[in-house]
Amino acid sequence: MGSQPEGKAVFDSESAKEMVKELRASFVAGKTKSYEWRVSQLIAMLKMLEENEQPIVSALRDDLSKPELESSIYEIGMLRNSCRLALKEMKHWMKPEKAKTSLTTFPSSAEILSEPLGVVLVISAWNYPFLLSLDPIVGAIAAGNAIVLKPSEIAPASSSLLAKLVADYMDDSCIKVVEGAVPETSALLEQKWDKIFYTGNGRIARIVMAAAAKHLTPVVLELGGKSPVIVDSDIDLKVATRRIIAGKWACNNGQACISPDYIITTKDNSMKLVDSFKCELEQFYGKNPLDSKDLSCIVNSNHFDRLLKLLDEDKVSSKIVHGGERDETNLKIAPTILLDVPKNSLIMKEEIFGPLLPIIVVDKVEESFDVIKSCGGKPLAAYLFTNNKKLTGKFVAEVSAGGLVVNDTAVHLAEHNLPFGGVGDSGMGSYHGKFSFDAFSHKKAVLYRGLGGDASLRYPPYTRGKLRLLQALLSGSILRIIRALLGW
Ligand code: NAD
Repeated sequence: MGSQPEGKAVFDSESAKEMVKELRASFVAGKTKSYEWRVSQLIAMLKMLEENEQPIVSALRDDLSKPELESSIYEIGMLRNSCRLALKEMKHWMKPEKAKTSLTTFPSSAEILSEPLGVVLVISAWNYPFLLSLDPIVGAIAAGNAIVLKPSEIAPASSSLLAKLVADYMDDSCIKVVEGAVPETSALLEQKWDKIFYTGNGRIARIVMAAAAKHLTPVVLELGGKSPVIVDSDIDLKVATRRIIAGKWACNNGQACISPDYIITTKDNSMKLVDSFKCELEQFYGKNPLDSKDLSCIVNSNHFDRLLKLLDEDKVSSKIVHGGERDETNLKIAPTILLDVPKNSLIMKEEIFGPLLPIIVVDKVEESFDVIKSCGGKPLAAYLFTNNKKLTGKFVAEVSAGGLVVNDTAVHLAEHNLPFGGVGDSGMGSYHGKFSFDAFSHKKAVLYRGLGGDASLRYPPYTRGKLRLLQALLSGSILRIIRALLGW
């Protein structure tokens, strides 16, 4: 069964059912709802991260050859920040929010209560296996839920370390990890959950959403897409190039959901841009990038072959202007730039999710918006490098994507005051900071009224006068109410 080690019990539908039953009992008993439990679990996660930095770095090196700096900052550091923020703000997030009331319900008062959803399932992906598994869990804990995590089998060292650490540090009666692949995930998906939070590709997202629909379970789908970068002329090309490299190759060698997928620039600017990339890439990764310790490898041979298929397509391979080297034994592909690839090539039809970066050439930078639209769907991120305020305004108004960044790439992910999530093909729902808490809460509307002053207005027998007064009350117009009261 899947990647389950020998000797381990089979995790099937019955096991999944039992697990959900146990977690639901903990939830119903109110264990996860108390502020103290939520704090204890967030502190436990912080401790787990602090005491296991080296094992986590090693697991990420085993799975992805991920450089220590990237593991330490983009996985562990960001998670620690999420825990700390939730610990600092959670009391405030949990507080009922006062709501205004209107004449319609006068006299009354109202509030919005954030209620935990119940038992939730988090299915995560392989490229940032710790961040993508534990960051949603921070929100689910803060909101007071019981949780099952299913990490990705494609990053097996990370998956087994996650299972061990969560069992060692966290409350096993309320938070569990199920390792495995399709059979285990399918067994989990058969159960009734109160929310499913899935990170991965759009094809599996459809399977997840169909399974959720059977139980009317709400979903958050964190997907990907072709995230474009528009590069205007008359900018500091060196800074722009470095920031694109930081979001592309310095993020798991392009295997990140918000990595720049392709660039759009003008013909005049394109050669200068290529030269700038050549120069900066050599500075960052040396003359032989395949030997660089600062570049992740491709996660497995399936993805390696998938990327080579994109690169080796006839009409594309002749467009390589930098890189293209590969090392099959170590699953490495060098940072590769392609200039002026045809729009009907495979590389422009699907999300690249790797170290290849095509450049599309246009006559005028304003044409970039049509190129983005013609690539179909709404990407997870879109980036623009410019000093032109008018172009920036058009970009913000016209480009629909999960998130936009002007004059940088990928950094919006680290801003916890912004929601992180997709739209259309790149997903639905969002998280990070308070948005994570909200993603795992039900916003319960509560209206309070007294029993005094009971007006007969809405009770039968209905009369013309009652109708006029109710209509006036619903309209909220004081004048109409006075006229209705006076019978005018
Ligand atoms: P993956 O292969 O790890 O799959 C994701 C999860 O789906 C895994 O846990 C896997 O076990 C499960 N799964 C696979 N097949 C399944 C099936 N038939 N039924 C049920 N579950 C199944 O990851 P991936 O899909 O290769 O991830 C890459 C994609 O994810 C890219 O498109 C990327 O853009 C996107 N992504 C998005 C985000 C985000 O935050 N929006 C983050 C990372 C990756």
